[in-house]
Amino acid sequence: MLTYAEAMLVLRSSVPPPPAQRMRPLAQSLDCVLARDVLAEMDLPPFEKSSMDGWAVRADSTHTGETRLRVAGRILAGDAPGAVLAEGSTWKIMTGAPLPVGANAVVMVEKSSLQTDDAVLLHEIARPGQNVCHQGEDLREGEVVLRRGTHIDACALAVLASVGADPVPVHTLPRVAVIPTGDELVSTHGPKPLPGQIRESNGALLEAQLRSLCVALTVVRCGIARDEQSALLQHLDVGLGHDVLLLSGGVSMGDADLVPLLLRERGMEVLIEKVAIKPGKPMLFGRVRRSDGGLCHVFGLPGNPVSTLVTFEIFVRPFLLALMGLEFPEPRRVHARLGGTRALKRIPRLQHVPCSLRSTPQGFETEPLAWHGSADLRGVLGADGLMLIDIGEGQVEPGAAVEVHVLDGAAFRGPARASRGA
Ligand code: AMP
Ligand code: MG
Repeated sequence: MLTYAEAMLVLRSSVPPPPAQRMRPLAQSLDCVLARDVLAEMDLPPFEKSSMDGWAVRADSTHTGETRLRVAGRILAGDAPGAVLAEGSTWKIMTGAPLPVGANAVVMVEKSSLQTDDAVLLHEIARPGQNVCHQGEDLREGEVVLRRGTHIDACALAVLASVGADPVPVHTLPRVAVIPTGDELVSTHGPKPLPGQIRESNGALLEAQLRSLCVALTVVRCGIARDEQSALLQHLDVGLGHDVLLLSGGVSMGDADLVPLLLRERGMEVLIEKVAIKPGKPMLFGRVRRSDGGLCHVFGLPGNPVSTLVTFEIFVRPFLLALMGLEFPEPRRVHARLGGTRALKRIPRLQHVPCSLRSTPQGFETEPLAWHGSADLRGVLGADGLMLIDIGEGQVEPGAAVEVHVLDGAAFRGPARASRGA
């Protein structure tokens, strides 16, 4: 059995070289990873630009008290540069419009009063450069705007749009197959489960977690696999044709837990089998050479829904991000004080306890959610993070300092949200 740290090292060192690149429409590249540096196609701003609605002037033509200037005309955003400022005159100018040649400042409209249609009084002295955005002050033509390896979030997407990088060079996304296993599982639609049966929920969970990582990922749901050799092998043969295969269930020590055996039968090189963590101890990871020569990376996640959720967050998410071309990410952790009145017992495994996280003037405060065990998904609803309880003896008492792995999309709703109907 590996420790958590050893398992992370194995995952980190199992990331293959960055995937191939392809051009993708910008609108579909949210959460993808840039495969090449992107350069600015031109200066930004491309011209001397007004940042205010007001009057374009030569600063040294204004003076204390009032300055009376002749109005030469009006320049709107979108007008081509080229207007010329003559001695003793001004142009009315709008935000985003190009400055007339000869002007070096803008007096905002609030600091003026129109005397007649063709004369204006300015009530301040202009400083050179005031209310002017200079050509190229944000970006120079040819400058690197975003480096390869950048994760394209909403802001990066807009930066790429601003330099016309559409389509955009990104790393190819992995295709991920999902197979829940278990004789007791029935699909989410259809009649109420019979005695002994339960609804299959890990498929929905994993697909949603995958989409939260990148909406554009190809997620192939291969259907529920029964705990029976030939049925499971049929599903595996479909799943193993992808870049990544996520299995849930069937990896523990039970009589029906055939996944590790059958994966070995299909040639899996097992790299992780069992990790000293809770939840998630039976986690399995390895790779299988596909018939086309590529690799399929396989995660066998324990079937208990909370274990599935947690092992995805701590192992699958960073591995997939690295597979998409990012640096293997470190978990986002914060220091917090254990709130509430409950002490937490240390055991010989590293625990990740679903918890709330609240910002207080004294720093973060965290409390474990009131979940009943590994099947109680509703109990961990809205978890902000996973509280780390180190391997050891004794207890972590309220008030103690702990670390929290912050979950993606955490809402920080505080412990109140965790209370459930008594
Ligand atoms: P296993 O890892 O196969 O031993 O399953 C552990 C527990 O998780 C069992 O109680 C299963 O019924 C439950 N379980 C396994 N797979 C799923 C699933 N896809 N959806 C909901 N519960 C599951
Ligand atoms: Mg099972």
